[in-house]
Amino acid sequence: MDNQKGKGLSFAQRIYLPRVIGLAIGCFSVMAGIYPLNLPVWIWGLLLINGFIWPHLAFQLSSRSIYPFGAERRNMLIDSVLGGFWAASMQFNPLPAVTILSMMMMNNVAVGGPKMLVRGLLAQLTGVLLSWLLLGVAFNPHTTAMQIYACLPMLTLYPFAVGMISYQLAIKLAEHKRTLRALSRTDSLTGLLNHGSWKDLLQASFQHCKQTHSTATLALIDIDHFKRINDTYGHIVGDSVLRELSNKLKDNLRAEDLAGRYGGDEFCVILPDRSLAQAQEIMERLSQVFSNYQHPDEPQLCVNLSIGLASCRPEYQDASMWLNEADKALYIAKNTGRNKVSIGAADTLMDSVLSKP
Ligand code: GH3
Ligand code: MG
Repeated sequence: MDNQKGKGLSFAQRIYLPRVIGLAIGCFSVMAGIYPLNLPVWIWGLLLINGFIWPHLAFQLSSRSIYPFGAERRNMLIDSVLGGFWAASMQFNPLPAVTILSMMMMNNVAVGGPKMLVRGLLAQLTGVLLSWLLLGVAFNPHTTAMQIYACLPMLTLYPFAVGMISYQLAIKLAEHKRTLRALSRTDSLTGLLNHGSWKDLLQASFQHCKQTHSTATLALIDIDHFKRINDTYGHIVGDSVLRELSNKLKDNLRAEDLAGRYGGDEFCVILPDRSLAQAQEIMERLSQVFSNYQHPDEPQLCVNLSIGLASCRPEYQDASMWLNEADKALYIAKNTGRNKVSIGAADTLMDSVLSKP
């Protein structure tokens, strides 16, 4: 039950206004229903309390409760007991009785599905029995013109209010869904695409290149001796270096370039419509800019990048072959002194073939 604590306060707030409107206009329907029946005065007092005081009391009860959601569901069952009580007290006058009971059923099913619907029906039955106990059992099948008019506001305004609230809720849910989807695609430390979503885009870019015979270059970027940075300056500084690199990527790439965090200190970028030579120039510049980074508290901190490049080649059968080539290029950069941009064997071979006289 502990995880329910504080839950549902916004639910209680959302339900407050519809209850104020619904019970106020419902009160007039019941008044018209009981008016010809010469019922005791206390019934009128109870009706006014139910129509105009109970909605505010219900809100106070639920908003002050440790478990507002549970308290609000309890309030709704009290609504249903009273609804049943008024339907029986009106001697089941068809229109006002059906209006009140059906609006309450709508509320219950909207809030708690079939389970709450059944509980609401039982609560309504309790109200009916209570009324029969206090006022006796009676049925009146005739609805007067005045009673019809008195039900019209409830039949029109209340569904409108509930419909508007449902619509606003649906909009809010759609927004939350969008935010959640964006979060599930983002690396929380750097704000770049995470491994999974970047891999999906790699696949899509590869297919696009194949189908349109267009150019694209892949860059795998790895921070040199990052473990040493962590060990020497601590992980907080390490994290700020990772964030700095992601900022530099965002600042130095075009909107259509797709940058992600591959994992750890390794980053990845797809550069659509960029040749190997153009990508090399961009990455050299990025490397230069990044190496100028000065940590505010650690002036001795020095950062460098090793970068492997691979262009999308027609002979690749799938995206992983392209990625492998970039990985091999990164391996070359790491093994030939770091702090450099390298290209893979397939691209080097093709370059030397093309540059032969
Ligand atoms: P190389 O030059 O060969 O790339 O050496 P390296 O030390 O950078 O490579 P290695 O892969 O051994 O080290 C990566 C380190 O990155 C190891 C891991 O502890 C650290 N790391 C991974 N994720 C994070 C993170 O989110 N924050 C921080 N601060 N460190 C991380
Ligand atoms: Mg590294």
